[in-house]
Parts: sequence; C-alpha cells; structure tokens
Amino acid sequence: MSDVDTHTDPQDDGGPGGAYEERPPLLVLDGVVRRYRQGEATLEVLAGASMVMNAGESIALIAPSGTGKSTLLHVAGLLERPDSGEVFLDGEPTSGLSDDARTAIRRNQIGFVYQFHHLLPEFSALENVVMPQLIRGLAPAEAKSRAEDLLGYLGLGKRLTHRPAELSGGEQQRVAIARAVANAPRLLFADEPTGNLDPTTSAHVFQTLTALARASGLSAMVATHNLDLAATLDRRVTLRDGVLVEV
Ligand code: ADP
Ligand code: MG
Repeated sequence: MSDVDTHTDPQDDGGPGGAYEERPPLLVLDGVVRRYRQGEATLEVLAGASMVMNAGESIALIAPSGTGKSTLLHVAGLLERPDSGEVFLDGEPTSGLSDDARTAIRRNQIGFVYQFHHLLPEFSALENVVMPQLIRGLAPAEAKSRAEDLLGYLGLGKRLTHRPAELSGGEQQRVAIARAVANAPRLLFADEPTGNLDPTTSAHVFQTLTALARASGLSAMVATHNLDLAATLDRRVTLRDGVLVEV
C-alpha cells in the first residue's frame, strides 16, 4: 500500500546494535489518573489506567457512556495531560514535554477522528485533506496528490470537490478519516467514529477505517458501542472503575 503508507522508520537504521535492541512498545499507559473537579467533589474518571499498545495493533474501547472513553483517548493522544501516571511513546515519557513538543508529536504522529466530522464547511473534501499537510509543511502539489490518493482509496474519488454539506454522513466520516491520516500518523484515535451513522453505513465506514489501518501499519484505538464491529479488531478493552481491563 505505497499510496497510504509513507512512513519511514527512524529506528530501523541498521546501525550498530539497532537490530538487536529490544524496541519499546509504541504506546504505554502506566497508571494514568485523570480527575475532574465538580464543585466541592472530585470525580476520578481514570484511576490508574494502564495498557500497552504495539505498533500495528487495532484496539476497540468498549464501555458505557460516561465511563471515561473520551478522557482516555484525549490523554493517550496527548490532548490532555494525566494528573498522575505516565504516557510513554516509543518508551519516552510525554507528560513533562512542553505544549509545543506535544503539539508537534500530535501533528506528526497522531490522528483523531470524532463522532461528528468537524470538517471545515467552506472547503471541499480535497481541501480538508490537503490542509493538515500544508500546516505540516508539505508542498501543495504533493499534499494534493496524497489527498487524491487517500480519498480515492476511501471510495471518494468522485467527491473531491464536494463540500461537507454536499456529502452523506458516511462520506463525511470517510473524509474525516482521510484528514486524520493525511500526515501518515503512527497512531489513530477514533472516538465513536460511527456513532452518528445508520448500521449499514456504520459497518462500511468502520471496515474502511480498519482496512486502511491494516494496509498502512497504523495502530488504532477506536471507542465504539458496536460489539460486532469491535470483534473485527485485534483486541478489546473496557473501562471498569477508571481502570482498563482486557475483554
Ligand atoms: P465517555 O466518553 O465514556 O462517555 P467521558 O470521558 O466523556 O466519558 O467522561 C467521563 C466522565 O467525566 C463523565 O462523567 C463526564 O461528565 C466527566 N467529564 C468529562 N470531561 C469533563 C470536564 N472537562 N470537566 C468535568 N467533568 C468532565
Ligand atoms: Mg465520549
């Protein structure tokens, strides 16, 4: 899948010792705690959540509403900092990094898809996928070519010039997926990406997302309420009293 996978692996340089050293997992959550103040009370949403995510793995996060799925994805995706515990990326702790350093990691290595697409309404599907690449510094022609490839791969080759309002819900979500992976991230976090779609469209979008992840070696964590779709991923975890449990 050369059209969707443009990463190179900086660690695999064939240098001395490199091939024999044990490589740390892509993402490790270690005792992650996240609390919210509610007036006088404190709500501990994550109470020591731990997990290991290896490169190329797809994981479903299945848990009832209000149990902390979005909070977990935000902390794991470096959008929020844990109150205690640590998030390691390639074995490196991330909580002490500056906001700029965390933003750079998110921009280059992490993609997000949400329940509502959050596409820019004034721009076409193509432009929505080109934009994050330009922000990252890619040349416009290169960004456009990659956007066309990605949208084509996701079955949207004939929708490039449509604005979000001129697309169906499933098409909007596929554009949002293309945008999320436009900069060839290593990690994708999807927060109920099909929660707003009818069952047939939902299955199609979900399968498209997992096929793309598998084809490009992307690691994905997907919060979902759909057990049938979750069953198609490599692993399933849930949140129980703020702690991650394999199911
Ligand atoms: P889920 O995604 O599983 O529905 P969330 O992570 O969104 O759960 O929220 C978990 C709990 O934390 C909920 O009870 C929610 O009300 C609370 N919560 C989430 N974000 C905040 C916030 N910024 N301030 C206060 N409480 C919050
Ligand atoms: Mg949520």
